[in-house]
Amino acid sequence: MTDRKSEIAANLARVEERIAAACAAAGRARDEVTLIVVTKTFPASDVRLLSELGVRHVAENRDQDAAPKAAQCADLPLTWHFVGQLQTNKVRSVVGYAGVVHSVDRARLVTALSREAVRSGREVGCLVQVALDAGEGGRGERGGVAPGGVAELAALVAGAEGLRLDGLMTVAPLTGEYAGRQQAAFERLVDLSTALRKAHPTANMVSAGMSTDLEQAVAAGATHVRVGSAVLGVRPRLG
Ligand SMILES: *Cc1c(COP(=O)(O)O)cnc(C)c1O
Repeated sequence: MTDRKSEIAANLARVEERIAAACAAAGRARDEVTLIVVTKTFPASDVRLLSELGVRHVAENRDQDAAPKAAQCADLPLTWHFVGQLQTNKVRSVVGYAGVVHSVDRARLVTALSREAVRSGREVGCLVQVALDAGEGGRGERGGVAPGGVAELAALVAGAEGLRLDGLMTVAPLTGEYAGRQQAAFERLVDLSTALRKAHPTANMVSAGMSTDLEQAVAAGATHVRVGSAVLGVRPRLG
């Protein structure tokens, strides 16, 4: 194994241990939680190593970086997740490689995603991104719709051709009532997911938790954790 591959393998093993321990502590089966490795700012060669090491889900947050990387890795058996704020003019490109978009937070984006999904003959999984730091009716600093706007946006996704409503996503807020209270934030997301599933029973994905707070996310009931630096190391630049 190359040095880089051994390094990533060791990091992956540590993250796997953390997820397994968090599942055990919460009385959950390990297979209830899926690891998504966030590869933003890292090269396509790292994505290839991850694939060789058994990773099946990767995530990116900027289309400019993700599109060429996904193209270079098109031969790999990976599902690409898009987790960043998404401008409508990037939607055509993103639909070209992303199986799931975690950052659906406004009606205009739903319309654009649906149009491009239909045009390209693909089905795109969509998570409504919830901003737990947004004022009611508002949007979050880092994207996302306030909890009060989730039901309406979810209904729009569910009714849109080419889109599949998969569930909810959040990023632990840095400000507001949930600042520094990751587990409470993730529990709120899970409560919102329970409410959502009354109307949309198959929308059962709960995407929450990153390198520093994956344990809290698993404890709260997340089904998908998005882990970057704990697997790939400190990012070469902000992303
Ligand atoms: C970068 C990023 C992550 C991963 O963050 P780490 O702290 O590196 O694990 C997860 N989710 C989103 C939306 C991100 O942008």
